[in-house]
Amino acid sequence: MPAEGANLQKELNPLRNAERQFDEAADRLNLPPGIREVIKRPRRATIVSLPVNLDDGTLKVFTGYRVQHSIVRGPAKGGIRYHPDVTLEEVEALAAWMTWKCAVVNIPFGGGKGGVVCDPSRMSKGELERLTRRYAADLSDLFGPESDVPAPDVNTNEQVMAWIVDTYSMHERRTEYAVVTGKPLEVGGSAGRREATGRGVLLCVREACEHLKRPLAGARVAVQGFGNVGSVSADLMAKEGAKIVAVSDVSGGVHDPAGLDVKALITWVADHRGVKGFPGGKPLTTPIVEHDCDILVPAALENQITHENADRVRARIIAEGANGPTTPDADRILRDKGAFVIPDILCNSGGVTVSYFEWVQNRMGFYWPEREVNQRLEQYMVQAFHDVLAKSLEHKVDMRVAAFMVAIERVVKVIMLRGVYA
Ligand code: NAD
Repeated sequence: MPAEGANLQKELNPLRNAERQFDEAADRLNLPPGIREVIKRPRRATIVSLPVNLDDGTLKVFTGYRVQHSIVRGPAKGGIRYHPDVTLEEVEALAAWMTWKCAVVNIPFGGGKGGVVCDPSRMSKGELERLTRRYAADLSDLFGPESDVPAPDVNTNEQVMAWIVDTYSMHERRTEYAVVTGKPLEVGGSAGRREATGRGVLLCVREACEHLKRPLAGARVAVQGFGNVGSVSADLMAKEGAKIVAVSDVSGGVHDPAGLDVKALITWVADHRGVKGFPGGKPLTTPIVEHDCDILVPAALENQITHENADRVRARIIAEGANGPTTPDADRILRDKGAFVIPDILCNSGGVTVSYFEWVQNRMGFYWPEREVNQRLEQYMVQAFHDVLAKSLEHKVDMRVAAFMVAIERVVKVIMLRGVYA
């Protein structure tokens, strides 16, 4: 591989990036000797081989992972990803980000993540159900409301969560809803969970605008990815008076300097499976992260802003709806340009926060109206934003380093109180 290609490969390695982000913050904290290693490494990583009967009568063995990065502040919490490119390293990185995310938003969870190497687009519903049940059964000793609580991630959804509830409950001989979150409303889900991540993005952007003394009303917003996070963020920001000037997804992109009609775009996407061809805007011909706007919301994939394009990002505020959209190399460039990046572990933590509320409601057996869920979400998000902002101003560091510092300090505080069983 040519040197430049090898460098880019390194830049895009999620575990390396998660460790670099951790190290940059940990270097600024006076951590007790040895503690740094304790919190950096995953607590436990499990690999399972999952035999599944396929529809054609053959038996195929899939590989599954579950990584518990930390259970210091509470049960491991984090989604399960189904994707052909899943690796143990990627799951480790995502699990670590969950530890820091739960600590930043100050909910009593640790961090975990799971994954199965599979291509759901080539599997029938029956095959996916059998794979999910086998994964849940093999990991049922790890899972539990007090120990490890999965949720949906890329290519898993409410239905997959309902299968896990059922499998776990069959083994336990009683119904246990609190074993996963992101469930259908009818199976112990929470009001407001679907919109929670996008709502959290809006709340962070609103606070950032106030801090930077820039009105959100009238601000020009570009959104990459128009799935759950992107579409809800765009819709809620438009309701606050922002102009959504460009949107892209896997099908293509559309733009209108006067602002797109977000409701009409949502309807179009539901009918046409993508933003491409939306008659209320012109096709986007340049990469959306380089679009002329005030606020950029990457809400699709990791590694979208790299050292190769960071210099061409024009937005003043970058609100990371996605996990890991900006590499550490790109972060440096954005910092030097004076961009205000709201880091993923803060910006998209609304989802896990309402997952926490879902878990609480399951354990109480009492369900809150959506208004109450949203009010509580706002309290947590606004508090977290200002905890991170205060740290950033105090130490003269960017919001990402500050968020990691807040999170690491919270985890270390608990370790020092509990002590290390060494
Ligand atoms: P989703 O599957 O609902 O939507 C993903 C969107 O990204 C789709 O519109 C897809 O077309 C688009 N996309 C894919 N490739 C693209 C490309 N190359 N260019 C432009 N758009 C592209 O997923 P989601 O739940 O909205 O998650 C998006 C991101 O947010 C992921 O990184 C996810 O890990 C993160 N996240 C989601 C939640 C949540 O609650 N859903 C919570 C925290 C973080």
